[in-house]
Amino acid sequence: METSDLSITDDMWRAIVENDKSYDGVFWYAVKTTGIFCRPSCKSRPPKKENIRVFKTAEQALAEQFRPCKRCKPTGQHLPDHEWMAWVTEYVNSHYMEDLSLHILAEISHGSPYHLHRTFKRIMHITPMEYIQQTRLAQARKQLIGSDKSVAEVGKSVGLSNTPYFITLFKKNMGCTPLQYRQLKSQEAQNGGIQHGKSNE
Ligand SMILES: [Zn+2]
Repeated sequence: METSDLSITDDMWRAIVENDKSYDGVFWYAVKTTGIFCRPSCKSRPPKKENIRVFKTAEQALAEQFRPCKRCKPTGQHLPDHEWMAWVTEYVNSHYMEDLSLHILAEISHGSPYHLHRTFKRIMHITPMEYIQQTRLAQARKQLIGSDKSVAEVGKSVGLSNTPYFITLFKKNMGCTPLQYRQLKSQEAQNGGIQHGKSNE
């Protein structure tokens, strides 16, 4: 994995922190935690030093599956919007249990919140926040059926640690509380999966 990396020098680190344009084209840096790579001059918030990988060419970063930053366009090309959105949805799918907001997604994917919101809605037909909620609720439904966790624990494990809010959100979307949903599903399972009585959708 580490084959094409350069080791990060003090100069490189300083160039990243100071957004030094004179290092553009000399090296590119990728951030392991976000999967994005940038030019040294990128105005995005400097990552933690230990999360950085440094490359001699943009191609090497691409070859290691890093995606070009939306803001500094390290390959000289626009990241196509659908690729940007694919990155954002993948990020939500694997980080839904963490603190997420439009601003956080914009910051880590290096776009403006306004642009992210608009582009996401155009391509995905829902807003980023709606997508986050749907992902969390889908995970919550899985856990309500597949685990013995309490409602509060389920909420917490999908990034909704405010239990009353979790219950309200769940009810608004599913038409029943998390507990009712669990009971309904376990009854259905006992009855051989036959739908009966109250609809769940
Ligand atoms: Zn950048």
